[in-house]
Amino acid sequence: MMDFSQIQALDKQYHAETYSYFPIAFTGGKNATLIGTDGKEYIDFGAGIATNIFGVNDESWKAAVVEQLNRVQHVCNYYYAEPQSRLAELLCTKTGAKRAFFANSGAEANECAFKAARKYSAEKYGEGRAKIVTLKNSFHGRTLFTLTATGQDAFHRWFGPFVPEVDYAEANMDDIRRVADNRTCAVVIECVQGESGVTALPKAFVTALEAFCKERDILLICDEVQCGNGRTGKLYAYQHYGIQPDIVTTAKGLGGGLPIGACLFFGKTEHTLQVGDHGSTFGGNPVCCAGAVNVVSRLTEEFLLEVQGKSDYMRAKLKGFDGVKQVTGLGLMIGLEIGKNAKEVAAECLKRGLLVLTAHDRVRLVPPLTITKTEMDEGLSVIKEVLK
Ligand SMILES: *Cc1c(COP(=O)(O)O)cnc(C)c1O
Repeated sequence: MMDFSQIQALDKQYHAETYSYFPIAFTGGKNATLIGTDGKEYIDFGAGIATNIFGVNDESWKAAVVEQLNRVQHVCNYYYAEPQSRLAELLCTKTGAKRAFFANSGAEANECAFKAARKYSAEKYGEGRAKIVTLKNSFHGRTLFTLTATGQDAFHRWFGPFVPEVDYAEANMDDIRRVADNRTCAVVIECVQGESGVTALPKAFVTALEAFCKERDILLICDEVQCGNGRTGKLYAYQHYGIQPDIVTTAKGLGGGLPIGACLFFGKTEHTLQVGDHGSTFGGNPVCCAGAVNVVSRLTEEFLLEVQGKSDYMRAKLKGFDGVKQVTGLGLMIGLEIGKNAKEVAAECLKRGLLVLTAHDRVRLVPPLTITKTEMDEGLSVIKEVLK
């Protein structure tokens, strides 16, 4: 194996310069404890951006993935594949969705949802009703359509011209009414906004938005790429709000660390996408689906209650720390308002053996859902030290 300086040298010379890394790589670990190339242990409050839902080296998940690897690693979408069919059934029976389409990432799951929304509307109402409304401060991905849909100007430098008929509203009904007109086919929300600072949308807004959309046959799309798959203590975050979206997209945690995205179609969108309308070479890859079947089948009511308990525990501790102004988000998707530079706090945490993420000016904590009390305590004590 290479030592860290060798890895870093290669990367600096050959890898695209799109990322700003902390100076470390990881060689292994267990659950929410990683081992760095420096030989030290790190508590992981980031989970590869809410992705390694069962941490690393989870035996049951690995067995499911390896079992499929020992059979067939990939089949194209000319043929059936059991893990794909099983995952579709599992997601539909657990959520009430009618059908699932599988992609490889969050952006692609959203891309699928946006295309489906435009087709749903065009078939029913004809052309001229293609507008997608998203929220200011949202994040929906990096493909051109999803980047357009991302309601943050900072992401829009350089890459225009953008996809037409996408517009942005503030998270209040007055602004939704202003922007979501009779040319609109869908409104997209993240019930808990991740990248823009870990903010749970107000319940009154979300329920009013659902009613508004229903009345006008505007599709309500919930982007659960980050907040889905048990992260908030429910299988999907919209379930905290008592609403029924028309389309739900998810990815990140779904594969337990393998790349997979899903677009779930409820009720009236069940038959919108037909043969030839959409597709993906790797989408629904059997190894990724086998991992996801293991993930989703283990997100039981009992497991989700444990997630809620861990969230309560961490939040109560964090609220008591000097330097914490506000604790935001939902479940194990935690934002910390700290009145300090979040990136510097993250760098300081790393030095003391804790991995945390940031989201705008907040520290973002999205640990593996299987994190133990000991791991939580170790990580929390680092945060306490750093913020003091
Ligand atoms: C991460 C994220 C995406 C994009 O997912 P990728 O897998 O990086 O394409 C989209 N929406 C939300 C809410 C996300 O957090």
